[in-house]
Amino acid sequence: MTIRQNLIAGEWVGSNGSENINPSDTKDVVGIYAQATTDDTRQAIAAAKAAFPAWSRSGILERHAILRKTSDEILARKQELGELLSREEGKILAEGIGEVTRAAQIFDFFAGEALRLAGEVLPSARPGIGVEITREPLGVIGIITPWNFPIAIPAWKIAPALCYGNTVVFKPAELVPGCSWAIVDILHRAGLPKGVLNLVMGPGSVVGQTMLDSPDLAGITFTGSTGTGKRVAAASIEHNRKFQLEMGGKNPMVVLDDADLKVAVEAAANSGFFSTGQRCTASSRLIVTEGIHDRFVDALTEKLKTIQVGHALKPETHVGPVVDARQLKQDTDYIDIGVKEGAKLAFGGERVERDTPGFFLQPTLFTEATNAMRISREEIFGPVVSVIRVKNYDEALAMANDTPFGLSAGIATTSLKYATHFKRNSEAGMVMVNLPTAGVDFHVPFGGRKASSFGPREQGKYAAEFFTVVKTAYTQA
Ligand code: NDP
Repeated sequence: MTIRQNLIAGEWVGSNGSENINPSDTKDVVGIYAQATTDDTRQAIAAAKAAFPAWSRSGILERHAILRKTSDEILARKQELGELLSREEGKILAEGIGEVTRAAQIFDFFAGEALRLAGEVLPSARPGIGVEITREPLGVIGIITPWNFPIAIPAWKIAPALCYGNTVVFKPAELVPGCSWAIVDILHRAGLPKGVLNLVMGPGSVVGQTMLDSPDLAGITFTGSTGTGKRVAAASIEHNRKFQLEMGGKNPMVVLDDADLKVAVEAAANSGFFSTGQRCTASSRLIVTEGIHDRFVDALTEKLKTIQVGHALKPETHVGPVVDARQLKQDTDYIDIGVKEGAKLAFGGERVERDTPGFFLQPTLFTEATNAMRISREEIFGPVVSVIRVKNYDEALAMANDTPFGLSAGIATTSLKYATHFKRNSEAGMVMVNLPTAGVDFHVPFGGRKASSFGPREQGKYAAEFFTVVKTAYTQA
């Protein structure tokens, strides 16, 4: 099998590779991907630094054309790239193709943003003086991404970084290098000058750590676990560097007595179990008022009985495998913890055998959980959801906010009063009414509060806040 290499200073390099394994079928090797060393990573950073002056002054038409071409190719290859994504990460094909389409939309959006770069001209407080406010690129941006969105997260970091004139050193998660390699290849062929985008695949402890330790990165944008996020923050403060973190969630979905039961069940099933629950916006706490509690639990349990767990590429599958053995162990450990804590295992909880060797787990529902239990406070990152019974809306809102995290929060209700109050009083960065907590648009801000996020929002025009720095220039004519 050919080794997919790293891209450093415009050259494909690297001879030692690591296998990318399909979690639906561990006998299926998706590809072999090069492992960057500390030296490779330093060279990539040096290449990005050398490329910055020219790229930061490049014309907007050049940036527009490259991003646009990239979007077109991703979209034209959405079936093939969707299959690659589903093979390496395990989400079902429809979700894989959906994510690839979203990546194409993101590149298209930022192709447009390149043509809309603007500043402000204001009169000074002092007569005869003009003030110009402009946005300039930061410099070399380090991009570190997780495994759960192998193409969308790289896209929503790389596209704005390049659009605003930065150069990039990109380290994808080791578990899923395939889609990252594919978009870097597309961008390279679309005409990016040498060194503007560098790909360094390999473990976080080597490649990621070398990036954190480098004084030459002007910014790091990171998505992943809270633990690694804290390391990014500490190293960035040390180097006086701008940083942006998107980390975990323990997203609540409140279901009120007046909810449309069907809407509530669909939203909860989607948020909690689709994409195998491996979304930072997944809802893993269902906070349900007494009057609807039993009907809701019954209807959700019936729904779970219809969910087919299996190989991500099989058309009948609704939920694919867990991403790897380590994550599966984390999920089953939390199921044991939930049982020991006294929650009632209402559905699932067991591993599932299929024709192929894979990491299949039943959708798992706990009831009679409390908000103090570990399964309600810690991010599990699998298809494991708890139902917590509450008396009324006020208790539900207080419990929804009683979490260290604050990424996404949902409410199922037909009451305008409660929907409006929840939107205003939820301590989450994103609020969903009668919708799953997961599933967001590409052109509007994405991000959370508290331990979920740090720094400016990602996506849409708000991305400019992180990927540019503001300059204020005064001129006396
Ligand atoms: P990590 O935080 O370990 O990984 C995220 C990225 O950081 C990966 O590219 C990883 O590299 C890299 N990394 C790891 N160590 C370092 C380091 N010392 N310096 C720089 N970069 C580093 O998350 P995991 O992927 O291991 O997932 C663990 C848990 O994180 C999950 O179970 C889940 O709870 C949570 N998570 C949350 C996500 C979210 O979107 N909120 C997304 C993914 C995970 P590599 O993996 O290649 O070694």
